[in-house]
Amino acid sequence: VNSVNSENQAWDFDFDRQHIWHPYTSMNQAFPVIGVESADGCELTLNDGTKLIDGTSSWWACVHGYNHPKIISAMSKQLNMLPHIMFGGITHTPAIELTKKLIEMTCKPLTKVFFSDSGSIAVEVAIKMALQYWQGIGKANKQKLITIKRGYHGDSFASMSVCDPDNGMHTMFGDAVTKQHFVKAPQAKFGEPVNSGDVEALRHKFISHHNSIAAMILEPIKQGAGGMYFYSAEYLKEVRALCDEFNVLLIIDEIATGFGRTGKLFAYEHADITPDILCLGKALTGGYISLAATLCTDKVAKGISDSPAGVFMHGPTFMANPLACSAANASLDLINEGKWQSQVINLEKQMVAELEEAKCYTAVKDVRVLGSIGVIEMDHSLNAAELQPHFTELGVWIRVFGSVIYIMPPYTISPKQLTQLTTAMKVVAKMIS
Ligand code: PLP
Repeated sequence: VNSVNSENQAWDFDFDRQHIWHPYTSMNQAFPVIGVESADGCELTLNDGTKLIDGTSSWWACVHGYNHPKIISAMSKQLNMLPHIMFGGITHTPAIELTKKLIEMTCKPLTKVFFSDSGSIAVEVAIKMALQYWQGIGKANKQKLITIKRGYHGDSFASMSVCDPDNGMHTMFGDAVTKQHFVKAPQAKFGEPVNSGDVEALRHKFISHHNSIAAMILEPIKQGAGGMYFYSAEYLKEVRALCDEFNVLLIIDEIATGFGRTGKLFAYEHADITPDILCLGKALTGGYISLAATLCTDKVAKGISDSPAGVFMHGPTFMANPLACSAANASLDLINEGKWQSQVINLEKQMVAELEEAKCYTAVKDVRVLGSIGVIEMDHSLNAAELQPHFTELGVWIRVFGSVIYIMPPYTISPKQLTQLTTAMKVVAKMIS
């Protein structure tokens, strides 16, 4: 319903429908959207005053909830001092402070940080780093990537080239998407021993192609957009060992899993390994503003410096934006306070207990929980537009995709709010069973 908000701005939904693209939508078809006026804690307030509990953390980014006073205050201070400045030939304390924190929080060998403005670009940067590294050490033929199926790394061209090959993007954009090497996604689930066939298949790919492979890239432990699937930590260990054996760099994409989501600060810690290149985004700023980072080792940075270009060939306009860095500094201070650990453990316990019941609904294929991620997988694909109003009626903001009904709420959600989310998941799962 078109209306005006408290600032007298128009809620012109018709205009929105006719002129504004939303993610993965068509301009010819009406997709339902809700109008959000404000958000506080774990609650969204809609244009008509309705309140919804947020089960998505705004695509997995808003881990501290909305309107957190510490992040808002840090950003307000920065906004009044220096909201933006180019990063070519200039530096600033928000970037220096943030780099120190990232080096401290991630694993030892990662010492060099490149800031960009979105997860997809952090992945592009990681891929460029790997390619330039091999040029620098005289192996310019190592230019291909290897990855596992069902992955998602973003919508830009190089990142699409390592997304699941069956999702349509590869064929749709033809030769503009580079053909990379894929192996099937690991069979063994999180907590299970690795499937030896999967390791053999990967070894076989390495044996056949390692001379042309610059890096392996994957989402660690949790494949997100590929179906909220949690795989064996042992597989990740094997990947690291094979990369070492065959002289291939390992790029780990923690854009969705970083900063505690799976119960460890970084998901690679489940496997006790470290990457050569690490991609971060989403929760880096607590979800308040877009910022991403690609970290690499001294070894990778040296290779890039020794490459024919002599410099790393990337430099976005909004690189290391000070306002975004100030949000990230405040968000990481909150993470470093350490409360996230008990919060995520409690969320995990509660989701395990409350989602159990869904296992006996006829159309439920699987129920799984890891850290602060709760999933009900159905045996058929779901129509997001059709199910959306049911969730809204139940007072929650949950977006289904593929065949999964999932939640990844802010870590700060209360037990009562979480129960409202798990109840809504079960109600809808039962309704469509
Ligand atoms: N990598 C992973 C693992 C993601 O989950 C996403 C987004 O969902 C991306 C990369 C792309 O990030 P962005 O949407 O910020 O470009």
